[in-house]
Amino acid sequence: MTDSVKKPVRVRMAPSPTGPLHLGTARTTLFNWLFAKSHNGKIILRIEDTDFERSKKEYEEDIINGLKWLGFDWDEGPDVGGQYGPYRQNERLDIYEKYLNKFFDEEKVYYCFCSKEQLEEDRQAMLSQGMAPKYGGRCRNLDPKEAKKRVENGEHAAIRFKVPPIEVEFTDIIRGKVSVNAELIGDIVIARNLRSPLFMFAGVVDDFEMKISHVIRGEDHITNTPKQILLQRALEFDEVKYAHLPLILAPDRSKLSKRHLETSLNDYRNEGFLPEALVNFLAFLGWHPTEDKEIMPVEELIKEFDLRRVQKGGAAFNIVKLEWFNSQYIQKMDSKELLSRLESFIPKTWLENPDLLIKIIDVEKSRMNSLAGFKNLAEPFFELPFYDKKLLLWKDISEKDTLRNLKMLSEEILKIPESDFGKKRLEQIIMPLTEVWGRGELLWPLRAGLSGREASAGPFELMDVLGKDESLKRIKSAADKFNA
Ligand code: GLU
Repeated sequence: MTDSVKKPVRVRMAPSPTGPLHLGTARTTLFNWLFAKSHNGKIILRIEDTDFERSKKEYEEDIINGLKWLGFDWDEGPDVGGQYGPYRQNERLDIYEKYLNKFFDEEKVYYCFCSKEQLEEDRQAMLSQGMAPKYGGRCRNLDPKEAKKRVENGEHAAIRFKVPPIEVEFTDIIRGKVSVNAELIGDIVIARNLRSPLFMFAGVVDDFEMKISHVIRGEDHITNTPKQILLQRALEFDEVKYAHLPLILAPDRSKLSKRHLETSLNDYRNEGFLPEALVNFLAFLGWHPTEDKEIMPVEELIKEFDLRRVQKGGAAFNIVKLEWFNSQYIQKMDSKELLSRLESFIPKTWLENPDLLIKIIDVEKSRMNSLAGFKNLAEPFFELPFYDKKLLLWKDISEKDTLRNLKMLSEEILKIPESDFGKKRLEQIIMPLTEVWGRGELLWPLRAGLSGREASAGPFELMDVLGKDESLKRIKSAADKFNA
């Protein structure tokens, strides 16, 4: 294919439904999606469920829901159909069988009857001789007709592809030239039987049949690439372009263990991470723009995304960074929109007073790291928590002076007419008093008495939301702690 007749960009997102949507899969999907969007390309969702035992419908649903929640869409897929379907590998077995039969006709594959034990024994023997283990070729020269008969008679045999002893070279968009001596690979199993292909083979067939132009996937697949290129050549398919994304590493740059990231996307969703924040965070797991900026909403990511700027080295996963992205997106979000996102994170009864909730959100937005954290921040607005009077004491100020300060504040606040009650007026009245009586001396017991908390929004914001009556009631109950 010459450059002047460039193939249209068609990428595939190819999750295996063997578990809930994983953050790593979400990142791979994002990079495919961004690449396609930035090239006016098409996106295909293909469910890779050739592992019959481990694949589950519920995981497929979880993955599709999760991808949609993150904001991804696709032009073709099991739920939307398309010209090159079906889009579940399990529903494409006839297609794979056709190509396997073609391979048999051309004697490019053979039946392998070796047992697991036998293969393991061979492997150990090679290792003990200091050789890199590979299949020794025991079944390669069996008479094909004889082998076929054995299979027809019920004997179990895998289907092995004859790997030619050549140097395989390809140019990875991220990693550059990669060259592998296929002699070291040995003949590979590509199917358990005619109706049960392995993903390596099924993927090659599908990429061709679905006219995929670019395969963008995790670096953990890079050892499959030379094998898949050999399969493509044997099937006389066009080569696709490859880009292998760097591994996701633990924060200390060690290999990521289950402990670090075996969490599904749902965990992050349930903890109250915004999809917008996750997408921005995931984009930076291995990529960064030319300019030194981090907050990039998805439209901006699409504009600037370039596979050639994906780093080769592993990308460290840092939860603190993710929390930072989340808080940035929360702060920027319109409070009404934020309220709709918060619905599943707060008690139903709170929703009866949306105006109050909006006010609370306005006040607390800047202190929120996650949607789940909002409930705790908002609780004092609905009910004053029990607290010990010690909470009201600023540094070494005595109980007596604290009581006097609270009373004085209460009298001043009482004077403000209801119609004028609000943050601005409160500030006007109280701030000059702090010049005389001290800032901490007045503002600390006021704030602590209004919230019942060691940490909260400031006293003026609190009163603005609580209103005059409730504010005065709370200040009185603070003062009563010393009268009692
Ligand atoms: N289904 C594979 C996975 O989930 C992806 C294979 C590929 O991208 O070629 O890891």
